[in-house]
Amino acid sequence: MALVLEPPPARELKPYKSLSNDELSARIEAVRKEFGPKLLILGHHYQQDEVIAHSDLRGDSYQLSQLAASSSDCRYIVFCGVHFMAETADILANRPEKLEERGGERVTVILPDMAAGCSMADMAAIEQVEAAWADLGEVIDTGDITPVTYINSAASLKAFCGKHGGIVCTSSNAKAVLEWSFKRTSRVFFFPDQHLGRNTALKMGITNEQMPVFDPYGGDFGGNTEAALKNSKVILWKGHCSVHQMFRKEHVEQFRKRTPGIKILVHPECPQEVNDLADVSGSTSKIIKTVEAAPPGTKWAIGTELHLVNRLKHEHPEQEIHFLSPVVCMCATMYRIDLAHLCWSLECLADGMPVNIIDVDEETARQSLVALERMLEVR
Ligand code: SF4
Repeated sequence: MALVLEPPPARELKPYKSLSNDELSARIEAVRKEFGPKLLILGHHYQQDEVIAHSDLRGDSYQLSQLAASSSDCRYIVFCGVHFMAETADILANRPEKLEERGGERVTVILPDMAAGCSMADMAAIEQVEAAWADLGEVIDTGDITPVTYINSAASLKAFCGKHGGIVCTSSNAKAVLEWSFKRTSRVFFFPDQHLGRNTALKMGITNEQMPVFDPYGGDFGGNTEAALKNSKVILWKGHCSVHQMFRKEHVEQFRKRTPGIKILVHPECPQEVNDLADVSGSTSKIIKTVEAAPPGTKWAIGTELHLVNRLKHEHPEQEIHFLSPVVCMCATMYRIDLAHLCWSLECLADGMPVNIIDVDEETARQSLVALERMLEVR
């Protein structure tokens, strides 16, 4: 009689939650050692330090996906970030030329906690975007609109942009992407972050009057008049980052009053009133590079996610670094990825029973890639 081997029982997450950080760390390292270069653990800049300590690569969402996709040895990516980032990693790591290089072998992408979403990405559901597109089509020619989505969006929205001649942008190349778009059409529909769209377009001389905000809950035409839409250059989707939305003009004013000579460094996901007052505004990478390049003794108040600001403070004791807001602004969904989830997902993988696999369907991946590849052209 043939011997049938039963698969090991699926691991439960709960027991991991009562383990000490030391034990979790040791077990995480054991799995990393077992897999070697076949496994990449990616840590977004906004992750907690305990998780970052186990990451092979640290970066912003786009850098991480690109780095992972360019590795020829990697077969498993554990993405310590949020859902849309893992989707992008899956699309880039498993694009046709990469699959061919690996003889058809796919890279498995895992998100340690499926509840690690992004509130901003969730503000632009594909059904809402498609309804808005149809709505706009009653007033303006949608053939003359380039849909642009920030990389912080679901794969379905990236695919929508790919399908309609549109493109993806990052916070580093948003201006170049708008310029690319205006060479093709006279209008842009910008998702999901109204602040990044507005702050970028204002620097290009586009006025707030030319940037109506489309509210998917605002009724006909997203709460706009036909005249406002006809006069538009950039139609902004009513979305925002719950972390960067918390920074206020008063925080900038208080720091300037209290600490003469202080420089204000913010992310363009912050509201316009904060961006307008800042000394420097830029992506997460730009924030890091700006601090790294500053002379000792420079005083900064930084408006971005708390974990990154605390890490910069720790890594640059020669500078005086403050968090811009008096209240805690951290990415609560990113924070869901902790050592317990990381260890659990890695040991499930080591058992040959991976959990929380992010697998973007073929058609969505194909259309998203069109928009992502356009983005690469204009970096
Ligand atoms: S910081 Fe904001 S945009 Fe980034 S993942 Fe968190 S909620 Fe989303």
